[in-house]
Amino acid sequence: MNPVGIHALVWAGGWSLEEAHRAIASSAKTGYDLIEIPVLDPAAIDVPATRRLLDEYDLGAACSLGLSPETDISSEDPEAVARGEELLTDAVDVARDLGASFLGGGIFSALGRYTRPPTPRGRAHCVRTLTVVVERARAAGITLGLECVNRYESNLVNTAEQALALCDEVNADNLTVHLDTYHMNIEEPNFTTPVQRCAEQGRLGYVHVGESHRGYLGTGTINFDEFFAALRQADYRGPITFESFSSAVVHPDLSRNLAIWRNLWDDGEDLAASARDYIAAHHATG
Ligand code: MN
Repeated sequence: MNPVGIHALVWAGGWSLEEAHRAIASSAKTGYDLIEIPVLDPAAIDVPATRRLLDEYDLGAACSLGLSPETDISSEDPEAVARGEELLTDAVDVARDLGASFLGGGIFSALGRYTRPPTPRGRAHCVRTLTVVVERARAAGITLGLECVNRYESNLVNTAEQALALCDEVNADNLTVHLDTYHMNIEEPNFTTPVQRCAEQGRLGYVHVGESHRGYLGTGTINFDEFFAALRQADYRGPITFESFSSAVVHPDLSRNLAIWRNLWDDGEDLAASARDYIAAHHATG
């Protein structure tokens, strides 16, 4: 059934060898099948050493990133778009070399609050760039995922319908929708329809489970019973990755862009074990 993943920020804010070792060992120890590694700066990842650690602990990897204003492929500025294409291309190569088969997240616009709507020219830049990057991903055996994020983190893709429309425009079968319950809770009508809509179009590629406040699963307001039932109804077999953030673990860019100001937890291992139990209790993952 579904591989169960955990985001690296549960363990460490950076990716030094010590942090990579701790994150990978801890993910395996707490019963996860894969770790999601942020690749906001592909050059900062020691890929061969990370690959060796993944092999040593028999853990899979997925990758994710969010673009910045300097690398925004939905920008009207062709230089930002070119930098974004280079970053995405490098991230695809890192994902491939880590043995991952998925790269998702905010790969279509900058991760952060926009103060104006997207423009037709910027959107056309996004479609053109994704068309190039998705072909490189295909050659690398990678599926891309457009993560539907809330309105404070993108102006372009906030809902599954918007992600599906972008998928249709790019028109590549390895471009999928990446759903996240935390964002769905803000932007979608419910936790069923988006899953159904993506699944019926063969576009549900990846799932994040996160609470309404991004802390312990089951301590917020997300209707996980509805969400997991929708995944079963859709016969979704892809990864289910737990995502949680606290001010206790800080990534220099990501934590700020996601507005992680409060301490939701201190003990990543207890959090991870609790989330793994919660997912097992709500969804048979085999
Ligand atoms: Mn997410």
